[in-house]
Amino acid sequence: MTYTGITLALSKGRIFEETLPLLAAAGITPTENPESSRKLIIGTNRPDVRLIIVRASDVPTYVQYGAADLGIAGKDVLNEHGGKGLYQPLDLRIARCRMMVAVREGYDYSGIVKQGARIRVATKYVNAARDHFASKGVHIDLIKLYGSMELAPLVGLSDVIVDLVSTGGTLKANGLVAVEHISEISSRLVVNQASLKLKRGLIQPVIDAFAAAIPK
Ligand code: ATP
Ligand code: MG
Repeated sequence: MTYTGITLALSKGRIFEETLPLLAAAGITPTENPESSRKLIIGTNRPDVRLIIVRASDVPTYVQYGAADLGIAGKDVLNEHGGKGLYQPLDLRIARCRMMVAVREGYDYSGIVKQGARIRVATKYVNAARDHFASKGVHIDLIKLYGSMELAPLVGLSDVIVDLVSTGGTLKANGLVAVEHISEISSRLVVNQASLKLKRGLIQPVIDAFAAAIPK
């Protein structure tokens, strides 16, 4: 029983919410809300389009192996994954934020973090952190975390964190400040390259409708 339509991999939360208007522009309406449903495969009004709900960081993997034909993933996630086997036709300009270095209030970042220094960096984004500090000539001990990075400097796990910031509210609530901008982040449409060749008739109209509906 192979599915002959197209499968789009999405994550719950802000990516799902901000993707709904793009789906609508492509004539796609999910039949269930993944926030309230426990289903991981969600149908749509179109028999030839289905959604799968996966962890944000797993989206590129599903698309890379062709288990999903398309997916929507943050630039942060794609940078860590490497993007192998993925065609990335569109910056969708949704789920926008900034990747930043943050420290405890009062930490003398510019005084301490100079060329040749060594610091402890806690982050989920190890590739981004490694590249950023290498470009500054700063040596780092990397501590990989999976969430709640804000805690690390407060309990002495690390000197700094590399994390995504939008309003800065979470940093502020924890007595942290952003001290360096690393990159602008938004979500991208990713497409399996073999799927694009085999199912272009179904995929290209979705790409075109998304392109026309990208927020300004
Ligand atoms: P999980 O919460 O399941 O561990 P996650 O934290 O990666 O996974 P989300 O918090 O839903 O999942 O983030 C999904 C994507 O949204 C991120 O990969 C990033 O591109 C983007 N994002 C993360 N934080 C923000 C933010 N504060 N503002 C805007 N976009 C964000
Ligand atoms: Mg999260």
